[in-house]
Amino acid sequence: MREKTPKATMLSVRTRQGFNWDTVIVTRRLACLGLVACGGGAALSRLATPLQAGEIPAAKVAEIADGVFVHRGQIALQSPANHADISNAGFVVGTDAVAVIDTGGSYHAGAALRAAVAKHTKAPIRYVINTHMHPDHVLGNAAFKADKPRFIAHHKMKRALSARTARYLEAAENALGDEAFEGTEVVLPDAGVEDVDTLDLGGRTLRLAAQPTAHTDNDLVITDQKTGTAFVGDLIFSGHVPALDGSIVGWIEVLEKLGHQAPALIVPGHGPAALSWAAGSEPVQRYLRAVAHDVRAIIKRGGTISEAIETAGISEASGWELFDEFHKRNVTAAFAELEWE
Ligand SMILES: [Zn+2]
Repeated sequence: MREKTPKATMLSVRTRQGFNWDTVIVTRRLACLGLVACGGGAALSRLATPLQAGEIPAAKVAEIADGVFVHRGQIALQSPANHADISNAGFVVGTDAVAVIDTGGSYHAGAALRAAVAKHTKAPIRYVINTHMHPDHVLGNAAFKADKPRFIAHHKMKRALSARTARYLEAAENALGDEAFEGTEVVLPDAGVEDVDTLDLGGRTLRLAAQPTAHTDNDLVITDQKTGTAFVGDLIFSGHVPALDGSIVGWIEVLEKLGHQAPALIVPGHGPAALSWAAGSEPVQRYLRAVAHDVRAIIKRGGTISEAIETAGISEASGWELFDEFHKRNVTAAFAELEWE
């Protein structure tokens, strides 16, 4: 891969032969080709005049460790009022480069984060890393295009996000409305992590570890080795009920494995800006185990998926926000996975 700044070198991100590594921009126009349900000319024309980043106030960030900044997104569904600022995002500042980790769920949310970076450092944004494909974590990527960073993710994210681009954009536009959606597009990664890679930001190194299927099939854990801070994305939810879009068995296993490494500090995908590993992981493990236990019991005695949806994991109902919005879907996914055990 080409690298213009030796001190900010990505040491070993793997390339695929024959692929054009220039950043792939998938606009709504491209995503909608051939799809009759897309929004039409009005939506397309808005992309030509997105809000200028300078017009959007900087996001509030907390410096949770030396040079590690986190913006705490709201625990909410995306809405015009919150601009899909509903997940945590942050950035790590080195002497030579800044790495942004997740970008919020809209151009607006991404631009607010970009403004926060500019308030805290003059170092250039050389990397934008996504913890996984979900729209509330990636749809702000477009706000960083002008920085010409390398967009990095789990090697499976590009394909997964490509397949969902039209659906994610349509859902975001419908939920956000014209103004909050303005400028939003999908920017796919141009580099994929297959196992473990490192990024030298100058004076500190990030370790990027691709995970087996858990919350999704493209979860990436980014650890700042200087402070022991791990951005774990949606492998950890806090407050916001977990949302299963991968494998419940795999998720439980990944959390067990990460627990053996015990990061000093974690940044969850949703919830407080920073948590200890124990405080973050125990409720998620308890929830996943409760769902898996109850679903397995129902399957074992020949119960139905409808019964599972009504009863499995209900003991967890009072402990989580947005439980009604996500829990039934989680049980449905768990049932489909576990009935084939
Ligand atoms: Zn997610």
